[in-house]
Amino acid sequence: MTIFQRIIAREIPADILHEDDRCLVFRDINPQAPVHLLIVPKPLIPRVGEANPEDEALLGHLLLTAGKVATELGINSTTEGFRLVINNGRSGGEAVPHLHIHLLAGRPLAWPPG
Ligand code: 5GP
Repeated sequence: MTIFQRIIAREIPADILHEDDRCLVFRDINPQAPVHLLIVPKPLIPRVGEANPEDEALLGHLLLTAGKVATELGINSTTEGFRLVINNGRSGGEAVPHLHIHLLAGRPLAWPPG
């Protein structure tokens, strides 16, 4: 079981902002920006590189949920803005093998990322 499955199952506490039948959104325990959320699908997909065609609607739902939560937080504007990040594999910075989208906001975000 991944740490995120345990959060979804409420075995581990988290600061949850949104839940629906397909995903959970909660605050990252080690925030890298004033707003740092994780958007996590309930079904276990280890990483984007292992997603399947049948995951297409779910993956789209995660992006739409990111926009919806950003709107609710008042950061969905061209001036405020936010960044979505998906780390895939060791060199990509992946630590938890359960696909998730980072939503970062609340400070200027440099480009290119490190
Ligand atoms: P990754 O490096 O896999 O893209 O991101 C994993 C993220 O999960 C990290 O930003 C890390 O801080 C976060 N994380 C790891 N364990 C926990 C936890 O138990 N609770 C929460 N809320 N976040 C976690």
